[in-house]
Amino acid sequence: MSKIKCKCGYVISDSTDFIAYKGHLIADQDYYDFYTEIENKDWHDATSIGSKYFNEIFQCTNCQNIIIIRNNKQFNFKSIDSESNSKVLNSHQNEKWTGIISANFYNGQGELYWYTNLESGFLQELSLTELKETYFRKYNEFQDLKILRHSFLRINGEIKHNFEL
Ligand SMILES: [Zn+2]
Repeated sequence: MSKIKCKCGYVISDSTDFIAYKGHLIADQDYYDFYTEIENKDWHDATSIGSKYFNEIFQCTNCQNIIIIRNNKQFNFKSIDSESNSKVLNSHQNEKWTGIISANFYNGQGELYWYTNLESGFLQELSLTELKETYFRKYNEFQDLKILRHSFLRINGEIKHNFEL
């Protein structure tokens, strides 16, 4: 599923990786079987085995309700806690989680996208100078905080700067 509609009307997007309000849920009855089955498997096989075991779970960023997707059906749950705005599905590392920056320049326009648990954003229609400046400012900022997983700066199809943790 790439879009999930919450009961509150909010449309939850599921179109990238590392989503801060998404998790993967496994039944306790399957838990040990899963680890047995992926033992000695490479990453690619392990993830395809995982898709059989895991259900997707989302927390609506508007109303904080929990949504579980199982067999393409949507099950909705509402928190009974008053402290209902806590993010229950982001990384155990919280704001220390390492995020991403991608910068692309093509057709005379720059686009910059960054995503960490401290902040995220998207800028469009940047000049090449603006793109480079903002990219390296974010890059240095996130490196200082040790919250970068990977980043790249691509100009007219050519990678000019690249970082991989
Ligand atoms: Zn909602």
